[in-house]
Amino acid sequence: MPDPRRFETGRKITWCPGCGNFGILKALKDSLARIDIPQEKIVLVAGIGCSGTITNYVKVNTFHTLHGRVLPVATGIKLSNPELIVIGHAGDGDAYAIGVAHLVHSARRNIDITYIVHNNLVYGLTTGQVSPTSPLGTRTKSTPKGSVEYPINPIALALSSGATFVARGFSGDPQHLSRLIEEAIKHHGFSFIDVLQPCVVWDRVHTFKWYKERIYYVDEIEHDERDIIAAMRLAYETDKIPIGIFYRVKKPTLEDQILSNKNPVKSD
Ligand code: SF4
Repeated sequence: MPDPRRFETGRKITWCPGCGNFGILKALKDSLARIDIPQEKIVLVAGIGCSGTITNYVKVNTFHTLHGRVLPVATGIKLSNPELIVIGHAGDGDAYAIGVAHLVHSARRNIDITYIVHNNLVYGLTTGQVSPTSPLGTRTKSTPKGSVEYPINPIALALSSGATFVARGFSGDPQHLSRLIEEAIKHHGFSFIDVLQPCVVWDRVHTFKWYKERIYYVDEIEHDERDIIAAMRLAYETDKIPIGIFYRVKKPTLEDQILSNKNPVKSD
């Protein structure tokens, strides 16, 4: 494999020791090295939260934007120069609370960008408050008696919004995750990966061990990636946690349609 060290910036990494973000960083650099795209052709956009500092640790073009606004910025970059490979990173608070509308609309537009969500089930940077993916009953500083809100199902949301590549990864298996990121980047359309990322400081329940006891790999079962109903069934599994590619189909992208200036439903 080409050497991923060419993507190192030498900046000091400020994540807590043992944080799940390290696995995502490794997976990203490995996948970029394998795809072997010139560094100047890659743009990483990140929002606010622990995940956001990933822009400091990967030697490509980067843009650290406002909370919840990763996808509008990524969309602007991609439409300005469709030759660029644009990858967005956000945490679960960023992506599924303030930024959730952008996820829905980016997915339905099928813009050709990759969106990687570091889903640790809490707001880590602000010291562990409840997030849109925290399970019902989660006790945090902001919910001392337990959360009374039902969590978002990110995979089901992306599928129903029209994303053409939908996957779930686990930061405790960076090798598998790097394959998912590679496939997502190669996919021509909106690629979404929800990454299960333990926060070792603010969540003592959803640890690496907890996930390892529950996950299984989608490619070890019979699953048709083009079948959205089958993908939805996987998204709603609760006893076990499937990881891998849930859904992948081809559709014209937003920039294909804008640049060709054709009405996609007319055959002229
Ligand atoms: Fe990672 Fe949690 Fe520390 Fe943030 S607070 S760096 S998510 S372990």
